[in-house]
Amino acid sequence: MSEAWQQRLADARAHRQQTERWRTRQVAKNNTLDFAGNDYLGLTLDPRVCEAQAEGARRFGAGAGASHLVSGHLEIHDTLEEALARWTGRERALLFSTGYMANLGVLQALADRHTAIFQDRLNHASLIDGAALSGARSRRFHHRDAIDLNSLLARSECAHKLVVSDGVFSMDGDIADIATLVEVSQQHSAWLMIDDAHGVGVLGDNASGCVGNTWSSKDVPILVGTLGKALGTAGAFVAGDTELIDHLIQFSRSYVYTTAQPPAISAATLKALEIVQGEPERRAQLNANIAYFRREALHLGLALSDSATPIQPLILGDETRTLGWALHLQQKGIQVGAIRPPTVPKGESRLRVTLSARHQHDDIDQLLAALHHCQHQEALCSPCA
Ligand code: PMP
Repeated sequence: MSEAWQQRLADARAHRQQTERWRTRQVAKNNTLDFAGNDYLGLTLDPRVCEAQAEGARRFGAGAGASHLVSGHLEIHDTLEEALARWTGRERALLFSTGYMANLGVLQALADRHTAIFQDRLNHASLIDGAALSGARSRRFHHRDAIDLNSLLARSECAHKLVVSDGVFSMDGDIADIATLVEVSQQHSAWLMIDDAHGVGVLGDNASGCVGNTWSSKDVPILVGTLGKALGTAGAFVAGDTELIDHLIQFSRSYVYTTAQPPAISAATLKALEIVQGEPERRAQLNANIAYFRREALHLGLALSDSATPIQPLILGDETRTLGWALHLQQKGIQVGAIRPPTVPKGESRLRVTLSARHQHDDIDQLLAALHHCQHQEALCSPCA
């Protein structure tokens, strides 16, 4: 083994001690208050969704048994794809096993070295990795900055241009300015892809996300949504016109060369989708929780980012400080995400607090009290963990 490799492994060992400590605590999270996950509507534990999954397993088996193009594509997959297409106002939808795979698969299938991809600087890692896999020329524009995007597009001589953005930014909680992205993309004859992983189920008309029924496939031709967040199950979908979906079925390697989504998951997702559409009070409860948390946190003087979504980051800057706050919360039985580089830029470490419809005011009060304790301890100049 070369010296460079040995060094790499030694670095990883050193890093592991810190990560392991954190991970062990996460595994032991029974009875903790979860303000870290993405179960925004509280559907992961909904008895109707769980029962649909159990019934799905009894009817169709525990797994699909093969990839979609071999023998793994069942009627329940079709039914779910049709429901997702209707929900988002698209002609068709295509299931992927995860959101990560959907983004890799779309970019690899649509872009090549003759394509230029323009990505928001804060896009999710799967979009960055998908662009790298495609071999396209990649450019990053400043976060939500249409002027920067416009000037990059204007300077590009590539015939095929693709603009890519998260719908809701996963570490910041802010929402892409879809209207401007549509306008700028159209001005430069570029395709537009929006990954609305954190928007579907939470935002927009009929909870279909920040793109869904608001923007047609002429404006946003490529829409990605995930099922493991607000819908509470697992997997993802790409929604768009028939030509797009047919192309992905043929050429998207992360669709073609992998086992199809377990049909029981599709059955559970269908039930979750029915609940999302039929019970708008869940979103109302989520929005009330967001408003309550923000009002009280700002009242305490906590430095919240400007976010109207369930993702409420509290930027603390320093990594050690962030871990200290998160560990204190953990000791109080409260789980939040401690997000550090490389997931976010250096100096922007943060607690990623996420809210859910299932939180009670009392849960949020406990979180606020623990955050206030950290603030107070710092004011006394002693480490809080
Ligand atoms: N896109 C975004 C914006 C995400 O936040 C995530 C998950 N964190 C993904 C894609 C990947 O989705 P999945 O977890 O289903 O792979």
